[in-house]
Amino acid sequence: MNAEANYINTVGNSLYSLIEKLFPIHRSTTGEGVRNTLRCISDEMDVDLKIVEVPTGTKVFDWVVPKEWNIKDAYVKNSQGKKVIDYADSNLHVVNSSAPINAKMSLDELKKNLHTMPDKPLWIPYRYSHYNENWGFCVNYEHYESLVDGEYEVFIDSSFKEGSLTYGECLIEGDTKEEIIISAHICHPSLANDNLSGISIAAHLINFLKKQKNKYSYRIILVPSTIGAITWLAQNEDRLSNINCGLVLSCLGDAGHSTYKKSRRDTALIDRAMEHVLMHSDTGYEVRPFAPYGYDERQFNSPGINLPVGLFMRTPHDCYPQYHTSGDDLSLVKPEALADSYSKIVEALFIVENNGLYISQNQKGEAHLGRRGLYRQLSGQADQRLDELPVLWVMNYSDGQHDLMDIAEKSGIEFRRICKAVEALLAVGLLKSTVE
Ligand code: ZN
Repeated sequence: MNAEANYINTVGNSLYSLIEKLFPIHRSTTGEGVRNTLRCISDEMDVDLKIVEVPTGTKVFDWVVPKEWNIKDAYVKNSQGKKVIDYADSNLHVVNSSAPINAKMSLDELKKNLHTMPDKPLWIPYRYSHYNENWGFCVNYEHYESLVDGEYEVFIDSSFKEGSLTYGECLIEGDTKEEIIISAHICHPSLANDNLSGISIAAHLINFLKKQKNKYSYRIILVPSTIGAITWLAQNEDRLSNINCGLVLSCLGDAGHSTYKKSRRDTALIDRAMEHVLMHSDTGYEVRPFAPYGYDERQFNSPGINLPVGLFMRTPHDCYPQYHTSGDDLSLVKPEALADSYSKIVEALFIVENNGLYISQNQKGEAHLGRRGLYRQLSGQADQRLDELPVLWVMNYSDGQHDLMDIAEKSGIEFRRICKAVEALLAVGLLKSTVE
């Protein structure tokens, strides 16, 4: 195995392994599941996640932090006392945020609160009722059809109490206070692609970013979707002007190709960097314009916030049949797909970190590169002719108007090769940075 394949293998297995550990935890918008998830990430990854509790009733923009929901047990028993639906078998069996109930009822009555998908008969749907106090169970259609007439005992031991909404964050300080945010939602129970793939990649990025010297500070934000992101924004409003750009991560482990949804600003550096990385990868990809539906990028891109935050995913959530069903299990996510998504994010962050404006010190006529030993330096490389190209592009367009991202786009040359040319030109004094 070559070094690159080995790296992909190691990263992919580590990403997958964290997903396996988090998979059984019963998460919801609030409650112990979120706390246990954050604790598990801290322990497994040996990272220092700050766990923030925002009390029930706190006003966050147009929303209010809800009561905290927790669950201990849930089942449906038939007239012989046999459990025919058991939360212990799958935490998708209970409608997430179900109200408590302890009652006897007929099959017809029970069926009014059973959710199933006749078009996907083998999968349990994931249903939630976060903002209405309803109760319900979810079963696959075959299971639903197998229930016979009779009296059923319905029991859900759940609670809504004054408590808090919990989120986690981790700041990795760089040379500047300007921040790049990476956000993933942490509220889905036992679903692997949506949303454990995003959580695992975000958690692994903490350790990656901690080990390198960064120009920007990075803030990893693990929040329940929608209200969690809104809560985070409301609680951090005075610091939002520090944010340079960001990414929301979701559905990053399936075998489909990469999809990037741009920020509302459309041409922010993160949008261009992600598109550049995908264009230069040897796999298929799709870049979508911003639209106000999807994941938490909706909140970061709301008009009064308007941060350049894009969404990175593989198959979009509305395009894979297992989405929000028990089919989104550990078999849907692949270590190699996780590693591929992870390395594309690392590449895009490399661009954001290293983009800059340089000035050519020879603006009239081409510089005599050979006299400065630059051709000799290049000729030691495998493909001399090709690597002259970035040098010529950088020298021509480093006119004070075009940064390295502009040059990479104009030339069609990969950003890392542009950076190598910059290094060589800086070393012989033909190029100067505009920042000292
Ligand atoms: Zn979802």
